[in-house]
Amino acid sequence: MQNPKVLISESDISTRVDELAAQISKDYANKGELVLIGVLKGSFIFLADLSRRLSIPRHIEFIAVSSYEHGSIRSGAVRLVMDVRRSIEGKHVLVVEDIVDTGHTLLYLIDMLKSRNPASVKTCTLLHKAHRTEVDVEIDYLGFNIADEWVVGYGLDYDEKDRTLPYIGVIEPEE
Ligand code: 5GP
Repeated sequence: MQNPKVLISESDISTRVDELAAQISKDYANKGELVLIGVLKGSFIFLADLSRRLSIPRHIEFIAVSSYEHGSIRSGAVRLVMDVRRSIEGKHVLVVEDIVDTGHTLLYLIDMLKSRNPASVKTCTLLHKAHRTEVDVEIDYLGFNIADEWVVGYGLDYDEKDRTLPYIGVIEPEE
């Protein structure tokens, strides 16, 4: 099987992550510790790179969700399967996602986290399929807008494959 076609190169990702980290560091300067919540599994590489480039105090947490499916159709309903380990009350929170598609996952997370009385909840996603978004969800920091294609690499998988590719790729249909 051939490698996925490069959609966003390793160096383009790196440049954009630098820019996002600089902007986030500026926006949260002098606001105390920022709680970064990575949404497993897809965000683990993005979160690792982003968090190491911040120049502000930060604390790392992870959360895991799963989408309810009816057969192969995703219903849009989301379920929490792993929660953060520490209270976020009074803290500034940044949810770090790999990709926003319909937006249901991020909306669920924002609502759930806001109900815990943090100082603020903002969102950062590496990728956004803007044409597929079904719900009104605020993305505060965005890496790249992409078309409606299934992407892999840099943490994202296809059936658990290709997560550790250094670039964002698109799987080409078999000839
Ligand atoms: P949403 O709730 O926004 O529809 O879905 C977000 C989740 O769908 C992402 O966190 C990711 O797990 C999955 N997803 C959506 N599009 C893609 C894609 O192109 N590639 C991969 N690997 N996952 C995707």
